[in-house]
Amino acid sequence: MSAGAKSRVVVVAEHSQGRLSPVNWELMACAGQMARVLGLEVAAAVLGQGVEPLAGEIAQRTGVKVWAVEVEGMAAFHGEAQRLALAQLLPAWRAQAVVGAHSTSGLDWAPGLAARLEAAYLPGVEGLSAGPEGPRFSRTAHYGKVREELAPTAWPLVLTVQPGTFPAAPPGEAGHGEVEVVRLPAPPCRSQLLEVVDGAGTDAGLGRAKVVVAAGRGVGQAENLELLRRLAGLFSSAALAGSRPVCDLGWLGYGHQVGLTGATVSPSLYIACGISGARQHTVGMQGSGFIVAISNDPQAAIFNLADVCIVEDLTVLIPALLEQASGYSDPASLQGDLPGRPG
Ligand SMILES: Cc1cc2nc3c(=O)[nH]c(=O)nc-3n(C[C@H](O)[C@H](O)[C@H](O)COP(=O)(O)OP(=O)(O)OC[C@H]3O[C@@H](n4cnc5c(N)ncnc54)[C@H](O)[C@@H]3O)c2cc1C
Repeated sequence: MSAGAKSRVVVVAEHSQGRLSPVNWELMACAGQMARVLGLEVAAAVLGQGVEPLAGEIAQRTGVKVWAVEVEGMAAFHGEAQRLALAQLLPAWRAQAVVGAHSTSGLDWAPGLAARLEAAYLPGVEGLSAGPEGPRFSRTAHYGKVREELAPTAWPLVLTVQPGTFPAAPPGEAGHGEVEVVRLPAPPCRSQLLEVVDGAGTDAGLGRAKVVVAAGRGVGQAENLELLRRLAGLFSSAALAGSRPVCDLGWLGYGHQVGLTGATVSPSLYIACGISGARQHTVGMQGSGFIVAISNDPQAAIFNLADVCIVEDLTVLIPALLEQASGYSDPASLQGDLPGRPG
């Protein structure tokens, strides 16, 4: 590659309803590491309407140059508009690498951008090291069962960073970076965003519950959720959660979803039932005090995180548990102090 001193690694910032997402500081950390390995300069871009204050916030915290790209007609995030705008601007910005979040919106614009720029594309990056022949990027695959090491064979490079894998970059001491406002006419999109409707899910009480019983696809069918409801009912402060497939299948509303595109929870006890442990799920529950996981797959990645691992068919185990619990004259007696995570 011909990364000259002035080539850049450009972070594309995520924001919603006038606020920056915390994941941006993780993207900056990844970009900082890339800059050191590749001899690049870090910069950032925020696209949308009225984004200059957000660009100022990034420039102030990080000291890097930030482009505030005011895109006509892009009042809310629109993947195609973002992709077309970036494809137009990045070559002039001497972007050797582009970093976005491995999120629903990142996955909306990043692959198409890579195709348009004829760039290398690395989705879901979780780590970076300097190999003898250049940077090596790592990520987990097959629901965390294997780890892959990858290197781009072409430049520029577009990559998405798995949230929760790079520690957020602390505020820099370099002083306020430059903010440059760019105004673009509406990109020639083949689709248009008509409306954004808030509140697809109802409050499932996940944030308040001390115990979260979470259903994964391994529950098998909606009817089996009744077992988990009864399990949750053994505790005085419990809520039912679901992995994304469970919500996509309509077994639970989206207000129950835990993970990257759902809620982040940190109850005292998290009971994962039939959940494989994909990073997009665990990022939303890894802060739980004590984790019990039930899966029939002894290799399930959730077991890497769990304090108690139960390899069993949940449709056998949970009825047995409930039967045992029914022996308690007062189910509230199960509410006693929950164990803390060791060490
Ligand atoms: C951009 C993006 C965002 C995403 N956001 C989220 C998110 O917010 N939340 C989320 O959860 N996912 C999210 N996902 C999806 C995620 O990648 C996984 O596909 C999902 O978490 C898998 O859900 P699961 O563990 O329920 O299902 P599976 O991966 O299918 O796992 C089912 C598990 O149940 C076990 N099992 C099967 N039958 C039984 C049984 N009878 N008894 C016990 N165990 C059994 C299986 O062995 C397996 O371990 C996202 C993906 C992308 C790309």
